[in-house]
Amino acid sequence: MNLIIIGLILLVIGISKSNRKIEKNKINHDISNSSFKKPLITHIDENGYRRFNKTNKLVHRWIMEKQLGRKLYRYEVVHHIDRNKLNNSPYNLQVMSREQHNKIHEEYLTRIGAI
Ligand SMILES: [Zn+2]
Repeated sequence: MNLIIIGLILLVIGISKSNRKIEKNKINHDISNSSFKKPLITHIDENGYRRFNKTNKLVHRWIMEKQLGRKLYRYEVVHHIDRNKLNNSPYNLQVMSREQHNKIHEEYLTRIGAI
């Protein structure tokens, strides 16, 4: 009688142990599939701008489009006010024509004595 009970206890322990193993494997599997293991959805291109991996779209242009609620025209340039190409905060972005943009950068380079 006691042996049967011990047998049942061992069986139950055995089952719960193997269940735990499955649980652990499941957790490990979940961790390996979790977002921090996933590759980043953006990357920095050779010019120092952040782009979406999937579409290769420039993030700062995409943010400006969301701000404006429309697509940007090709002739529209999105300028980084603080000159930090990676600061894509909407407050740091300004939309302008290519001419205006060139002028701003020339003025800046002159001011800092680069040209
Ligand atoms: Zn600029």
